[in-house]
Amino acid sequence: MPDRLESESRKLLGRLRDALAESSAGQDRLDRIVKLIASSMLAEVCSIYLFRDAETLELCATEGLQPESVHQTRLRLGEGLVGRAAKSREVINTANAPAEKGFRYMPETGEERYSSFCGVPIQRVGNALGVLVIQSKAAREFTADEVYALEVVAMVLAEMTELGAFVGEGAALSARHQQPVTFRAGIAQEGAVEGRVYLHEPRVVVTNPVADDPTAELERLRAAIETLRASVDDMLTQTTTVSAEQVQVMETYRMFANSRSWIRRMEEDVELGLSAEAAVEKEQSFARTRMSQATDAYLRDRMHDLDDLSNRLLRILTGQGNDTGAEMPENPILVARNIGPGELLEYGKKLKGIVLEEGSVGSHAAIVARAWAIPLLIHAEGITTEALNGDTILVDGDQGLVHLRPDDTVQTAFRDKVAMAARAQERYASIRDLPATDLSGRTIELNMNAGLMADLPSLSGSGANGVGLFRTELQFLIRNQMPRRAELSALYTRVMDAAKGKRVVFRTLDIGSDKVLPYMKALNEPNPAMGWRAIRVGLDKPGILRMQVQALMRASAGRPLTIMFPFIAQMEEFRSARAEVLKTLEREEILGHSLPSKLEIGAMLETPGLAFAPDTFFNEVDFISVGGNDLKQFFFAADRENEMVRRRYDTLNTSFLNFLEQVVRRCEAAGKPLSFCGEDAGRPIEAMCFAAIGFRALSMRAPSVGPVKHLLRRVNLDEAKAVIDEARNRGDQSVRKAVTDWLAGQG
Ligand code: PEP
Ligand code: MG
Repeated sequence: MPDRLESESRKLLGRLRDALAESSAGQDRLDRIVKLIASSMLAEVCSIYLFRDAETLELCATEGLQPESVHQTRLRLGEGLVGRAAKSREVINTANAPAEKGFRYMPETGEERYSSFCGVPIQRVGNALGVLVIQSKAAREFTADEVYALEVVAMVLAEMTELGAFVGEGAALSARHQQPVTFRAGIAQEGAVEGRVYLHEPRVVVTNPVADDPTAELERLRAAIETLRASVDDMLTQTTTVSAEQVQVMETYRMFANSRSWIRRMEEDVELGLSAEAAVEKEQSFARTRMSQATDAYLRDRMHDLDDLSNRLLRILTGQGNDTGAEMPENPILVARNIGPGELLEYGKKLKGIVLEEGSVGSHAAIVARAWAIPLLIHAEGITTEALNGDTILVDGDQGLVHLRPDDTVQTAFRDKVAMAARAQERYASIRDLPATDLSGRTIELNMNAGLMADLPSLSGSGANGVGLFRTELQFLIRNQMPRRAELSALYTRVMDAAKGKRVVFRTLDIGSDKVLPYMKALNEPNPAMGWRAIRVGLDKPGILRMQVQALMRASAGRPLTIMFPFIAQMEEFRSARAEVLKTLEREEILGHSLPSKLEIGAMLETPGLAFAPDTFFNEVDFISVGGNDLKQFFFAADRENEMVRRRYDTLNTSFLNFLEQVVRRCEAAGKPLSFCGEDAGRPIEAMCFAAIGFRALSMRAPSVGPVKHLLRRVNLDEAKAVIDEARNRGDQSVRKAVTDWLAGQG
């Protein structure tokens, strides 16, 4: 970079810092700053546009354009060159602005005289705050060095905005982090709660965007990078039980920590006058922009690693750790980019809800949130940069909305909704101890699904008959190493004690697919959902299956025990697994351990093929439970994790119901109990239809037991069956409409 520009840049940044230190009003500061920038950059025009709301940019200060247009000229996000720079978060640099795509002429500004235009987004950690624009009459593109210098200035402006330096009158100059904001999000667990934000990783606050002494600052940056490198190396050497994937991530960290281009760019930023922290944030912003544009998943992941690394570097530089000492507010709602199940469990059940910027419906965090029955929303883009600890937050897990710092009307409407849901819960509580008997006198057994100790108290509260599915893998997923037999046995004992004699169906380890044990080598399978998972792992690694079954037997000691195998695709798998259990039983007897008073061994029907197994299979099992989540994805060939296809096929699709009815018939013919334990069992209309076609037992999340029972007690299942039959005979693709119309007719 030419010496003149470099020293100009430092001088300008020094003046910006002086402007920050002065106690003047936001508007005065902005007015001074545009003058400073225009003269320093030898441009006739310098303007600053800031957002007045998420969609609108407003001209907030200008040197060179008509002063009357300040706070009058507005552009929508994406509109004109300014709106385009804000939307794309990329620089627009052109010698002939009017000829540029999307140019919009704003007569009130008098800008028609200026040909060249350079708009640089003002952004902080990927969050667009406004646009800095310079214009001049001469038709010339600004040089790369000039643009670079402007980006550095824009970074300082971003930090100043964040620090509240431009607070003044009007929406565009209102203080940051005080306006109501609504985020659209994906639903990973339903429910509606009001609470206060608790940030998993509070943002690093940079109070000094400009360095006093660039030479000393460079030293500070280099020292911090050294510390970072050493810590990454430590991570790699100290960890012993890590998956190949974790090693890969750490290798990438190391690669970035040694990346010359990343480090060189930050050094250049500092040479131009930025503080080390501001330089790290500037490069982080660029990485975030690229991350949001990357269509390649691999590239996105790598950008993500760089982002994490930038955060580490910022924490080293500022000395701000993750633990800021912020107290957990009442009714805490956890807000995070993403979180693992282990970290989540450390917070414990005091959390009232979770909002993530990333995450997925099938993630382990989602499994934990589901077990806790607290709402979880995912893909709430930008919430970690907007939310502050303690902010009021409304999580609407039914609509997929998050209201941050809501205004009174939104809050009142939300509270009404929550109160209505609570009244419905009261209604359910009044029928808690009554059976789910329909008007024709048929009683359906309603059980709950569980997986953590924390679930067990719901057993008496929900009115469930027992636990129809205990997902044992959760205990394996939340640990850093394979649990020991004694540990498992103690845990299963506590589960059975807590169940107080009610039946608990223990499903043996169901890992693989999206459930990857952190301490087991991850396989690189093209189709993990159809890969090495569940009972396939159990049969190939019988040691684990045996250890688990032994722990269950020792825990049951003299009590009945129910075991179920996941993902049985053919009869032989069931036979082999069952033989393993019976061998273990024999061995336990020889070892002198007390045996279960009764042993039931069942299979989950999660693959369509099993429904066509020989009669022998149905005669040999003690019971069958339909795992609808997996069954549906294979029946319709639609990935349960893929949002594009997940909801495409209705559970009440006629073909699917016909298929389920076949399963009912086969179990009836063999005299074997049948249950349905996928998520659909917890949806009242679906549950009613399953009961109507012959299911006598359903297992669902604890909070669903009340609503399902409420509906079942108010309908006649024979009539419901007739409605379903009529729709099927008519050739309806799904019976949903017929059934909901009929229910509506019943009031
Ligand atoms: C299912 O597939 O329906 C099921 C209950 O098992 P999971 O959701 O744990 O795969
Ligand atoms: Mg399953």
